[in-house]
Amino acid sequence: MIIKKNVDLAKHSTIRIGGIAEKIYFPQNIEDIKFLLKKANQENKKFIPIGIGSNVIFKDGFHKDIFVSTHYLKGLNITEKGSYVYIEAEAGVSFKELVAIVKRLNLEGFENLSGIPASVGGAIVMNAGAFGSEIFDILEKVYWIDNDRNLRILDKKDISYSYRWTQFQNNGLVFKGIFKLKRSNKNISELIKKHLLERKKKQPLNLPTGGSTFKNTERFPAGYLLEKSGLKGFRIGDVGFSEKHANFTVNYGKGSFKDFIKLINLAKERVKERFGIDLELEMKILP
Ligand SMILES: Cc1cc2nc3c(=O)[nH]c(=O)nc-3n(C[C@H](O)[C@H](O)[C@H](O)COP(=O)(O)OP(=O)(O)OC[C@H]3O[C@@H](n4cnc5c(N)ncnc54)[C@H](O)[C@@H]3O)c2cc1C
Repeated sequence: MIIKKNVDLAKHSTIRIGGIAEKIYFPQNIEDIKFLLKKANQENKKFIPIGIGSNVIFKDGFHKDIFVSTHYLKGLNITEKGSYVYIEAEAGVSFKELVAIVKRLNLEGFENLSGIPASVGGAIVMNAGAFGSEIFDILEKVYWIDNDRNLRILDKKDISYSYRWTQFQNNGLVFKGIFKLKRSNKNISELIKKHLLERKKKQPLNLPTGGSTFKNTERFPAGYLLEKSGLKGFRIGDVGFSEKHANFTVNYGKGSFKDFIKLINLAKERVKERFGIDLELEMKILP
């Protein structure tokens, strides 16, 4: 298994903030993952999976936890049954790679999710979604190695999930997902292009960002609450809420974890004061 030492965690998160990991492990199969879960348990350390790092922020400092990048879990298998196509993809397969397949085979069902900068594992664990769709709409099965090192193959109906939450959060590692998509008569490449343009218009894709900072609330989108609280474009040091989308935290260059925490605490206070609503973080603070 590949192991890297003294790794700059900022390079493993799209917001580009974080301290140093003593080691990052890059498993290539299920046995490697079980070994790392056992090691974390024996050494009483946290087991921390990392995908693309597009919804995480790492704390400052030097960390001795067991960081596990899914980068080399790239297995892919495509099968067809009638007008349906099943894509079996390991955790480290990126949405970019899935988009290429979906376009090539003109498959329907993935287009709304196509611009999310996710890995398959990270997207399943977060129940990622966009434009009224979520990954569980097209997911059939999940291969999951739980904290006790059991490989569990679960049908969607047996999985607990809700908006940006699944039972897999902080428990083992999602190893693989099987997706069911349909051959389409529509021009899927065109639809994907439209969604990507829409994102470009609304999201600060020119700066390092961790995506949505807070979860939307039942009554209001988090971006609306932040904007109405005067926080769109507000920054502390080099970390701020984007001028383009108030719920996207961006790093203007030398953003620090300390400033991020100050910013989100201030936002929570202001929104509570003005609307009586408790904002909940969508981004994951690691470790
Ligand atoms: C520009 C931008 C746009 C975005 N747009 C959207 C959007 O439209 N919709 C949306 O839902 N999200 C969006 N996001 C957030 C993010 O892309 C999603 O949450 C995505 O699913 C995270 O995938 P990841 O591979 O980067 O996971 P990471 O950010 O690396 O990890 C997220 C969490 O999952 C855990 N994890 C990762 N992989 C595994 C695994 N295999 N097994 C177990 N745990 C794991 C990590 O420990 C962490 O707690 C956006 C982010 C950015 C930067």
